[in-house]
Amino acid sequence: MDLSLFPRIQLGHFPTPLEPMANLTALLGGPRLWVKRDDCTGLSSGGNKTRKLEFLMAEAVALRADVVITQGATQSNHARQTVAAAAKLGMKCHILLEDRTGSKDPDYTDNGNVLLNRLHGATVEHRPGGANMQQEMELVAERLKGEGLRPYVIPGGGSTPVGALGYASAAMELVSQAATRGLRIDHLVHATGSAGTQAGLVAGLHAINSPIRLLGVGVRAPKEKQETMVYDLACRTAEHMRLRGGVPREAVAANCDYVGPGYGLPTPGMLEAVELLARTEGLLLDPVYSGKGMAGLIDLIRKGHFKATDNVVFLHTGGSVALFGYGQAFGLKGPQG
Ligand SMILES: *Cc1c(COP(=O)(O)O)cnc(C)c1O
Repeated sequence: MDLSLFPRIQLGHFPTPLEPMANLTALLGGPRLWVKRDDCTGLSSGGNKTRKLEFLMAEAVALRADVVITQGATQSNHARQTVAAAAKLGMKCHILLEDRTGSKDPDYTDNGNVLLNRLHGATVEHRPGGANMQQEMELVAERLKGEGLRPYVIPGGGSTPVGALGYASAAMELVSQAATRGLRIDHLVHATGSAGTQAGLVAGLHAINSPIRLLGVGVRAPKEKQETMVYDLACRTAEHMRLRGGVPREAVAANCDYVGPGYGLPTPGMLEAVELLARTEGLLLDPVYSGKGMAGLIDLIRKGHFKATDNVVFLHTGGSVALFGYGQAFGLKGPQG
């Protein structure tokens, strides 16, 4: 499978490291745990959206766009990485932030990713929770066209067949990295939200006939909805890659038992996972995605889901910048003391 035929612009640092988590492995008594460091992609403190943006921004450039529009939650990592990519390519960037959590904490509304959006020069608009964000973006695109601009609209999370190519490519990168060091990967686990990461991995692993079992840990939707989203996008990604025969439905597995009260809302498991990884491995997870993904992985390990001899890779999708929007959840006192 050759993805080099697809237009791509280099924005990140690849390959990202694949590292053992020896302390966490010992603490939990196996399986053998590894971390694929996609929190280290480089662009504006990194994260999984960088890989998608390498393909999406290449399309924007090919279409001679001069402004990129995208959307996400207030502490969206996707919005922040998109703004940075646009800055690097000399494009304007217009982002719509949806108030999905209702938090009024000034750290949440102004710090973390929100601060970085501002530094990268984004134009930011806000929308209430539950707004039709795709439609809102299209309205903004019409408005900007009226001003003589050429907008390129990126759906939430960059989760399109073009964006998902980033994770088809990541699957191949990981498999060759493991082969180089003689490592047999049994399971790959990561946080899944807008589905592009998992869909790309499903398509990429299938394209190279990899036996790695992939599990997405949901952060928003219930299992059936999440798996349907991933499968639908994986099929469209496979088609875009011209993979004959598509992808098997059984390749898509999501566990959505760790969402808690809702998207972006803290859970005890997330708090435990973030603190545990910080203290055992010196690794920073995030409160919305990788923290809940790791909470799921830890719980499944405790329930005996894996064999002690399995090699389990956690794909760290980034997002630690959002920690600065969640100080109160980690016991930091708020402005009222
Ligand atoms: C966006 C994001 C995810 C989820 O990736 P999707 O492709 O949207 O499923 C996971 N982790 C972090 C840190 C993210 O920002």
